[in-house]
Amino acid sequence: MVAKLVIDKKREGHSLGSAEIREFIEGFTAGDIPDYQMSALAMAICCRGMTDRETADLTDAMMRSGRCLEWSLPIPTADKHSTGGVGDKLSLVVQPLASACGLAVPSLTGRGLGLTGGTADKLETIPGYNASLSLDDFQKVVGKVGVSMTVQTSEITPADKKLYALRDVTGTVASIPLIVGSILSKKLAEGAGALVFDVKCGSGAFMKTREDAVALAKALVGGAKAAGRKSAALVTDMDAPLGMSVGNANEVAESLAILRGEVPASRRDVELCIELAALMVSLAGVVPLDEARSTCRERLADGSALAKFEAMVAAQGGDLARFERIMNEPTSKFRIQSMRYGVVAAIDAEKVAKVAFRLGAGREKSGDRIDPRAGVTLAVQIGDKVSLGAPLATLEKSGGPDGLESAAADLLKAFTIAPSPVERRSLVLERVE
Ligand code: URA
Repeated sequence: MVAKLVIDKKREGHSLGSAEIREFIEGFTAGDIPDYQMSALAMAICCRGMTDRETADLTDAMMRSGRCLEWSLPIPTADKHSTGGVGDKLSLVVQPLASACGLAVPSLTGRGLGLTGGTADKLETIPGYNASLSLDDFQKVVGKVGVSMTVQTSEITPADKKLYALRDVTGTVASIPLIVGSILSKKLAEGAGALVFDVKCGSGAFMKTREDAVALAKALVGGAKAAGRKSAALVTDMDAPLGMSVGNANEVAESLAILRGEVPASRRDVELCIELAALMVSLAGVVPLDEARSTCRERLADGSALAKFEAMVAAQGGDLARFERIMNEPTSKFRIQSMRYGVVAAIDAEKVAKVAFRLGAGREKSGDRIDPRAGVTLAVQIGDKVSLGAPLATLEKSGGPDGLESAAADLLKAFTIAPSPVERRSLVLERVE
């Protein structure tokens, strides 16, 4: 295989052979193929696309660049992956809930970069929580508790780690074959038998249009099935933030409230948690989907999902009592209010995310520190009636109040208050099986 010829071939729009893809990725992982050639191939893939077979070969080569986990547990394994959204804390509820329904849930997760937060950052706001387990400890926690959430280590898909860093700076992130290769190689290496994808669509998501989100969902499900896993995806709305909180510690607090049954199960984000967990349970073959939905509702209501979450946190060194104490410590806050009577018609997820980011909830580049208490907590949801002066949201950060007032002015622009009632739509736009 001559790297330059492979780049030429893809640039001209031809399909690459399985061996060419495999050897290119092996050479890149080993450092024999330089970054500039990998970047050139990534750009050619971006412009010319890949067939399903090429995407499967790319995914397989990337998966094999590191360790691939195998599970020999007496219960089925499953995981849920979200393409990332604003206020997307669902993993904190879905993974323990699926585990409480009889699954083992090994979940390698990410840190936030840019506007979308990372599950690992959220969990690390719990004092002592170790979100950087070794793969051996990860396997032990899954075996003992039934669920573990930890950051993907460099032992898993090192090719993706190197390639993603290049794509980030060479304008080659927005390519379905490259996104599928990246996401799926990691999920396949994690070894779960069933994979459910939550593909977000809208202003606060990676995929802005429904058409692109459905195409990505189909490619992920098709790729997972081609690799011998059971798989399904939901394409879900991300025009408005999920739930009431956007940040890190405030999202953990909200997840705990859901797990404790303090949030009505009819709320849209709680319904989505139940739907995602039920899909995992049914795909893994425990019970059919309708029965899985009822089981999930019961396990959420009877505290079993909360018990799984608490057991996982304890097994990974976290102290929830200290977390609660920290949440009672003062922060700087600023509340915004409605300037008119009406109904909340829209809450722009991207605008809310930008404000939370400015307050310190996100990081610009990997390694940056985040403020665990920074974020936005909504007081209303789409469809709520508001009167003049009614609270819309609270901005929060550690330390002094500097920057809060100007961020508040921007947050106000995220809200659309309409004169007449609006329809509350389901979060699930489409199911891809
Ligand atoms: N998330 C990933 O892990 N990889 C991508 O390419 C895009 C989103």
